[in-house]
Amino acid sequence: MGETHCAIAIDGPAASGKSTVAKVLAKRLGLNMVNSGAMYRAVTWEVVRRGIDPQDAAAVVALLGELVIECGVCAGHSTMTVGGVDPGAELRSDAVNAAVSSVSAVPEVREVLVAKQREMLRLGDLVMEGRDIGSVVFPDTPFKFYIDASEEVRRKRRAAEGQQDEVGERDRQDARRKTSPLKISEGALVIDSSELGIEEVVEKTVEGLRERGWFDREGGAKQS
Ligand code: C5P
Repeated sequence: MGETHCAIAIDGPAASGKSTVAKVLAKRLGLNMVNSGAMYRAVTWEVVRRGIDPQDAAAVVALLGELVIECGVCAGHSTMTVGGVDPGAELRSDAVNAAVSSVSAVPEVREVLVAKQREMLRLGDLVMEGRDIGSVVFPDTPFKFYIDASEEVRRKRRAAEGQQDEVGERDRQDARRKTSPLKISEGALVIDSSELGIEEVVEKTVEGLRERGWFDREGGAKQS
């Protein structure tokens, strides 16, 4: 990876449980947890706020040139501000849910955010979750996972959270786009979480890490 720190990549479709798994795993191993979807959501929040058509790639790119985006880590979790503002709960608004796949299909948006995601590794070993973490952001890491679940289960999970989120439609857009589509990257351990609880999925990732030598690395995080 050309860095002293290591990344654990967790990819998967919307509401597959990957972000909860990433959080629990990061806490257990004492690592930073980076939610890359929040970064695409933050840029989308600004697009929506300014009334820009999310499908108008040229307008999105023009906005991107003006934005001051700052990323960091607070208490083990990634943080991000756009123009000095943390959008907070608005990252999960219905308007952002509906527009985020269009904004994140813009290659220039990906270029800027992927660079910021790679920079996060300077702060320490991390767990990063998203769509292209194993395939594009950290292709050289041996620690790759793909968390899946049936569309029905994923739709129900979002509805239980009170969110209006067309997960199937987002997945289709995310998988069809030309730049960095959602896919299972080579060497990733695929875990279907449809019938599993969070702890069981975390157990499977820890097992996968063990098989891939995470705990044998020099100075590697020991399991708590
Ligand atoms: O993970 P989450 O559902 O919050 O991601 C929101 C959206 O951000 C996804 O539907 C996808 O369009 C985009 N995304 C992406 N690449 C990532 C993470 C998220 O394109 N690494």
